[in-house]
Amino acid sequence: MGSPDFRRPGMHARQISSSSFAEAFDVARSKLDELVLQQEDPVSSPSPSEEDFDISDGLYSSPTSVASTVSTPLSPVSTPLSPMLDPDVADDFAFAFDIDGVLIRGGRPIPEAIEAMKVLNGENEFGIKVPYIFLTNGGGKFETERCRDLSRQLEIEVSPGQFICGHTPMREFADRYGTVLVVGGEGETCRDVAESYGFRDVITPGDILKANAHTAPFRKLTDSEHKNSRDLLAHGVKMSDIVVEAIFVFADSRDWASDLQIILDIAQSKGGRLETRSETFDEGPPIYFSHNDMLWSSAHEHARLGMGALRRIVETVFEDTSGGRKLYTHVFGKPQVSTFEFATRLLGQWRTAQHGLAEGGEPPATVYFVGDTPESDIRGTNAMDAKSANEWYSILVKTGVYQAGTEPSYKPRRLVDTVLDAVNHGIRREMARLGSRKSTGGRLLPLDDAALRALAEGRTPNFVSKAGPFSEP
Ligand SMILES: [Mg+2]
Repeated sequence: MGSPDFRRPGMHARQISSSSFAEAFDVARSKLDELVLQQEDPVSSPSPSEEDFDISDGLYSSPTSVASTVSTPLSPVSTPLSPMLDPDVADDFAFAFDIDGVLIRGGRPIPEAIEAMKVLNGENEFGIKVPYIFLTNGGGKFETERCRDLSRQLEIEVSPGQFICGHTPMREFADRYGTVLVVGGEGETCRDVAESYGFRDVITPGDILKANAHTAPFRKLTDSEHKNSRDLLAHGVKMSDIVVEAIFVFADSRDWASDLQIILDIAQSKGGRLETRSETFDEGPPIYFSHNDMLWSSAHEHARLGMGALRRIVETVFEDTSGGRKLYTHVFGKPQVSTFEFATRLLGQWRTAQHGLAEGGEPPATVYFVGDTPESDIRGTNAMDAKSANEWYSILVKTGVYQAGTEPSYKPRRLVDTVLDAVNHGIRREMARLGSRKSTGGRLLPLDDAALRALAEGRTPNFVSKAGPFSEP
């Protein structure tokens, strides 16, 4: 059976995918309609609306259980059911994942994460592939390198085209500034990353310490740091000839004291000119941090201080040493809406490049964001949802920062145990929505998990549950 109503004018050929997605659903629906009619005492209910599928009403409340009868029976299925279609791509929705505490913990994959990736890649009861991207506040490595790590850990191919780390959005600033100071990370890596983004003249705290060792009296460069640092004073250049137009903290500082001193020196300089001092303390260049996480989860029993703490220190110490003048710095990363907007652009490009969807790069109608930190993942997703034309649906997992049983500071649309539960929830929610939109009278199919599984395996469900697919076990 065809589903032309799912094809938009001018659709790319691959976008017919959602039609076959719909076809598979129609087959399943017909089969179930038949089964419902065979039941002796079906439970009547008014036609549920979209709201019945939605669980935006609260984190802890059980979603509405809905049962329905079928008043307009569809033709019985005369051919054997074969729902295991070739994997096809869903074009109405996508997933975005935080990494640490969701997919990876302590350098190892969370077991359900590997399964979740398989489900997204077509090993699900509907035989569909779902596009996905990764959005982490972490950084300090090339995106390509981090993707290689993730590919190995999750047993999938992860492309830089579907990956955003804390400093990735900074690449959009490469053309805006000439000389920039890049802070954080191991060795020369962040300088290399910044140059790969197109920044033309990148200096580091190491360069400044090499040029003037008195800058941070207690910090001594190692031999290799000295060797790798640039010689700023070559060709007779003086420190005050160098104007830093912006400061970018790419990754966590490896030496907070000297980095703090250098950032403050430039913040209090005359227009970013090294080793000068403003009289008014309002001429410094802009300062950007790749995220604002105060704490992060490492191998230590207790969370460790992160870049957000350094940012707080920079702002506080600036004020204390500048006669009370305030310093305003900028941050990227979650929960900043600008980072989610960046993610939207990347997701659009990725859907087009990888899946042939939405050639204009439009985002899907719904993006499911799965994270473990209410303050960044959930807060940002909810803020993006409030602002964006498309839906951003927050799902909180219990495998990371969020402690089960506690009240999250920002409420997700859905709380689940693991990333696998999150993926299954999103896909089933989409199926129900699709069914709702397609069905005559907008009914919710009374499919429970067992029924869906049975259909996917080509078996006949022996009972159509009165509960909706989102009922809590
Ligand atoms: Mg996390």
